[in-house]
Parts: sequence; structure tokens; C-alpha cells
Amino acid sequence: MDLSYTPEQEALRRRVRAWLREHLPKRERTADSLEYGDPARLAKAKAWQRQLYDAGYVAMGWPEEYGGRGADVMSQTIVNEELVLARAPSLVGMMGILMVGPTLIQWGTDEQKRRYLPRILSADEIWCQGYSEPGSGSDLASLKTRAEVVGDEFVINGQKVWTSNAQLADWMFCLVRTDPDAPKHHGISYVLIDMKTPGITVRPLIQMTGDAGFNEVFFEDVRVPRQNLVGELNRGWQVANSTLAHERNMLGSTTRTQQMFNGVLRIAQTRRRYGRRGADDPVIRQRLADLAIRVEAMKLQSYRQLTDAVRGRSPGIAASVNKLVSTELNHDIAALALELLGSYGPLARQASRVTDRGIWPWEFMFTLGMIIGGGTSQIQKNIISERGLGLPRR
Ligand SMILES: Cc1cc2nc3c(=O)[nH]c(=O)nc-3n(C[C@H](O)[C@H](O)[C@H](O)COP(=O)(O)OP(=O)(O)OC[C@H]3O[C@@H](n4cnc5c(N)ncnc54)[C@H](O)[C@@H]3O)c2cc1C
Repeated sequence: MDLSYTPEQEALRRRVRAWLREHLPKRERTADSLEYGDPARLAKAKAWQRQLYDAGYVAMGWPEEYGGRGADVMSQTIVNEELVLARAPSLVGMMGILMVGPTLIQWGTDEQKRRYLPRILSADEIWCQGYSEPGSGSDLASLKTRAEVVGDEFVINGQKVWTSNAQLADWMFCLVRTDPDAPKHHGISYVLIDMKTPGITVRPLIQMTGDAGFNEVFFEDVRVPRQNLVGELNRGWQVANSTLAHERNMLGSTTRTQQMFNGVLRIAQTRRRYGRRGADDPVIRQRLADLAIRVEAMKLQSYRQLTDAVRGRSPGIAASVNKLVSTELNHDIAALALELLGSYGPLARQASRVTDRGIWPWEFMFTLGMIIGGGTSQIQKNIISERGLGLPRR
């Protein structure tokens, strides 16, 4: 592991920090949800990504011919850290940038890369992920949405569910069954679907946070050009898995977890509970110490993963470890914060007397979703034990 920064990397950090000071208006420095229901808010979110992209700070590692900067892993990592530290709004096109984009770079045709990648970066096109279906979540390969090849087109019928951002997405990267007679992992294809195609219905679902971030999506005779296939017909499972590895990486940010921990520590040091500060209660001190150790372990694990990435090694099961550890830890931090806030804890964002703009109850509920999305903790444990530790499959 190499934990030092070069002078050039330190200079990049200073440049990004200065840029953010200048371009990130104070009032934007809020913890944001994934909810972009308000069109004005969506337009603002797109403009923010565009601004960041124009400054050269989005997907810096992508090839220059497709809008990237051909930069190394460390440069993007430094930018990402600074964005979190500045509490910059998360990017509305995140699923494009972190999931389908890298997948297209690996599997897409030149034409697909030219067509889709630049518009992902500039936020001109927003993407959603059509994987899960009713009855096919953890057992994703059992998915049933059917795509028949008719001439130069796929004709798609079926339903997806929990599709984050489908309500605002221009495109979906979608898994469909193209050979119902093949063994389940072998009859799946990965297709790109224009969300304005006739026959698509999007129905929002309200989460317990109160946001409507994800949806049901129905397909009725939806016709998609065959050239929207990524990889080979019936070989979509491999393509899908590379997207999943990117997703698992995306879900864990050490800097964000560290900030959440700092937040709970601040509450323990300042708020009184049962007549004394949480930080003076031996049981709370032990829980804080436990969380601090887990944050530190996560940080070291992410440095190891980063070192591998810098040296061009594949993350292997590290993405699953990262996803498992970070999502569980974020939830445990939010749970302790709520407990320390006592009866004020559950107050919603709009209420008076909320602490930290009411972020803690939101985090508590939101982080529970993150433990499930992208493959549940149980599924990550299965992957780690089978592929990482070589334990027998059940
Ligand atoms: C906030 C959020 C956003 C999401 N966004 C998207 C999205 O954009 N696109 C998309 O396609 N999907 C999305 N999902 C869906 C997500 O991928 C699924 O919810 C997840 O894979 C679990 O599937 P399921 O809900 O069908 O639960 P199930 O698979 O039915 O699991 C139910 C329970 O059984 C356990 N379980 C299942 N199989 C095993 C096993 N083999 N071993 C041990 N335990 C097991 C699970 O861990 C879980 O506790 C999102 C989910 C959430 C919560």
C-alpha cells in the first residue's frame, strides 16, 4: 500500500478545492436526496454536472476521445474526496458515469461508445438500471422480461421494479431474456432502451424516506433496434456482472462514511442525554469506539483496493467487501445518531427544532435501502465466502 501523494496530486487537490470554493454556492452545500421530482431541481442538477464536467472533473479516467481526460485513478479519487468534503450535490448522472459508462467502455462497439459516452458525461442523457423484477432480485438470473428478436428489432414485454431514477431517465440499460429455453444464465441479453419508446409505462414507488426515487417499469411490445445490444446475444450475464461490480464500488465512499461518523461524534460531544453528554456515557463511548475502528478498517481496505486499482489489478471481491462494510456501517452510524438525539431524532426535515437539517432520520432510512440495493448484505457475504474464501456453494 502506498499512502503518500505526489506533489502533482497535492496540487490537483488544491486546484479542485479552490474551484469548488468558487463554483459551489453556499446554499448548495446540503446533504441531498436522490429525489429530482421538481423539474427545476432536475435542471439545476444537470447544470451542476455539466459545470463539473466542463471543468474536467467528471470521469477523468475515461478515454479522451469519448469526453474523458485519460487521467489516472488517483486523480479521480482526489476529486471525489474533495466533492464529498465540500458536501457537493451528488451527480444526477451517476448511474451513467459509474455503471453503464464503464460497461460500454469494456463491452460496447465503437459506435455505441461514440453515441452514448459523451452525453453521459455532460448529463444530456440520464440513465437508469433495469435489472430487478418482481421475484428476481437476489436471484437476478431468473428474470423473465422477454425480448423476441423480430427482424432488426427486439420486441420487449415484461416488468422491472425498484428502478431508481426511471421517472427522469432518458435511457435504461436493461437485462432481458432472449432465449427462454437455455439455462437461466445463458439466455440473457443486455440492451439499451430509449425510455421514450412507445409501450413503456413508468409508475413511481414511494420509499419510506418519503421520496419517490424508484419505480415500476412496464414494457408492452416495446421495439428496440438490434444495434442497442451490448456484447453478444444471450451472453448478457457477463456484461451485467461487470456493471454490478462497478455498482458495488459506487455504493461505498470512505470519505462520506468518515463525515457521517464525524457528525455522530459531534452529537455525542455536544448534546445532553439523560443529564449528560453521550460522550461521557461509557456504553456510548464503547459504541463510538467500535464505529471508529470500523471506519478506520474500511479506510485501510479502500486504500488497499485503490493501490490495486492504481496497479491495474481487478478489484475481485473487494467491491463486495466495500459494499457490505460501508452500507452496514453507514446505517449503524445513523442509528446511533438517532439514539443520541432521543425524542428529537425522528423529526423530519421540515420540522422546527431539527438537528443537522433533519438529515439523520433520512440517513437512517436511506442507508437501509443501500444495504439492499446493488445486492443485499447476505448476497455479498455469499460472494465473499464462495469466490473470495473458496467455501463450498450451498
Ligand atoms: C434503494 C434501492 C434502489 C434500488 N435500485 C435499483 C435499480 O435502480 N435497478 C434495479 O434493477 N434494482 C434496484 N433495486 C433492487 C435491488 O437490487 C433488489 O432489491 C435487491 O437485489 C434484492 O432483491 P429483492 O428485493 O427481490 O429481495 P429478495 O431477493 O427477495 O431477498 C429477500 C431477502 O432474502 C435474502 N436472500 C435472498 N437470496 C439469498 C441467498 N441466496 N442467500 C442468503 N440470503 C438470501 C436477501 O438478502 C433478503 O434479505 C434497488 C433497491 C433499493 C432498496
